[in-house]
Amino acid sequence: MPNPSVTRTAAARIPTRYGDFQLCYYTNTLDNKEHLAFYMGDLTRAEGVLARVHSECFTGDVLGSLRCDCGEQLDRALALVAEEGQGVVIYLRQEGRGIGLEQKLLAYNLQDQGYDTVDANLMLGHGADERSYSLAACILEDLGVQSVRLMTNNPAKIQALKAEGIKVVARVPLEIAANAENKGYMITKAKRMDHLLFSKPFVSSHHSDLHEPQSTN
Ligand SMILES: [Zn+2]
Repeated sequence: MPNPSVTRTAAARIPTRYGDFQLCYYTNTLDNKEHLAFYMGDLTRAEGVLARVHSECFTGDVLGSLRCDCGEQLDRALALVAEEGQGVVIYLRQEGRGIGLEQKLLAYNLQDQGYDTVDANLMLGHGADERSYSLAACILEDLGVQSVRLMTNNPAKIQALKAEGIKVVARVPLEIAANAENKGYMITKAKRMDHLLFSKPFVSSHHSDLHEPQSTN
């Protein structure tokens, strides 16, 4: 298969509560999806750029679902970029670790029956993680980024990005405190997907009727 390529077809200034970002819209030769880069500062020929390669999570990013930590990770990444005045969030349209929103919702139903996030995906005939990062490499190259400090808790993502030729010079933890709704999901990510989690204490969710399992005090 030939290496994919991307074309930046549009870009615009997006003012946010964290400051002004540029949003770049990309077309590509691999799929028909709209992959994006959201950046601040001059990334051209920059080394060790603070970067997040974020896979779309409509439920977490847009709806604020407490089933996962995606929305809060995205928010934290933007805040960290703004703090430095330079950095990029690449937004890849691979919902539900690559299985799409419809299948993710079906997987959620399985999770509500007691299966964890990995088994639920497998039961639906998917891989535990079907994401690909080749387009992220193309987008970083287009932005002129030489190397990144990657905001992630996922060592497998670092390996996958390195395999795509991205120079990852450091990992910046992006750990969000778990809540009652997503604690099981995050434990599964730590235990079965080797995510580097749980350096932070467990906090209660917004649901006052839910107890805090294994809360230390
Ligand atoms: Zn999510």
